[in-house]
Order: sequence, then C-alpha cells, then structure tokens
Amino acid sequence: MFSGIATASTGGLSPASPSPAPAKGAFPIRGSVTWGDGLGAGRGHQGQDLLAKCTRPVVAAQTGRVRLVDYQADGAGNYAVIRGTSSKFDYVYMHMLRTPEIRAGQLVKAGQRIGLVGSTGRSTACHLHFEMWTRPGWYRGGSVSNPTPYLRKWGSAR
Ligand SMILES: [Zn+2]
Repeated sequence: MFSGIATASTGGLSPASPSPAPAKGAFPIRGSVTWGDGLGAGRGHQGQDLLAKCTRPVVAAQTGRVRLVDYQADGAGNYAVIRGTSSKFDYVYMHMLRTPEIRAGQLVKAGQRIGLVGSTGRSTACHLHFEMWTRPGWYRGGSVSNPTPYLRKWGSAR
C-alpha cells in the first residue's frame, strides 16, 4: 500500500538476505518509475512500491503459474499472485487499474503483460506494490522477502 514517497530510495533493506531469487527477471513496469517505500518503512510495509503513471503496463517479473487473481477494496485493490516456476517465491502485484489480464492456473512468462498500473484498493497514487514470499507462499505460511535487491538487479538489466 502506498502512503508517501520514501526519501530513502531503497527503503528498509533487510540485512538477512532472502533465499536466492533468480538473477534474471523482468522489471515489473514498462516505462519510467520512481522508487517508493520499501520493506518495513516504519509501518510493516510488506513490499516495494514503484510509482509510475496509471495505465503503464505491468509485466510478470518471473515466469510462473497464476495462483490468484482477486480484488480487495480496503487493501490490495486489483491484484495477482504468481508462483514462480524456477524460484522459491510467490510474486504479488497490487493496485492494478483493472482486473489483471490473466486468470488463475495460467502460465505466464517473465516479461509478459499481466495488467496496468493503477491505484485501486488502499492507495493514494498510481503505483505498483510488489511483494515476494517464500514457500509455501503468500498467506499460506510463507514469509515476506525483501524484493528490493532483486528489483534493482532486474531493473538495471533493462
Ligand atoms: Zn506498498
């Protein structure tokens, strides 16, 4: 969820590095972004906010199987959870403009468009809230990992 642009561009970097995610991946937004709050951010923030214009394409960071596509008015807005096939993570994309363009069970490739940047749910600006969860996954007993180092890696490879 978004509650302001963080001054520290990387947010709260966790010293305990998560189990390794793939070095290769697609940055989840096409076009320019501004880095918002990272993990923690003094408010239990569970991911990395990436601010971008609404309607910018959101793409899958990693190839995976869509676990869930849903809407949560008081939180995630239009969101999708994708289980990475070559990594031990669930990847979560929140606040998309409309219902994501994918459905549960579908296989999506890294770089494939899954929706559009929006500001649905508990959000006050156009942005993507991106989370990474270890197995067994998002709200299935997994735990939050810090996505920021991976996003930086995938972003610099653009
Ligand atoms: Zn957020």
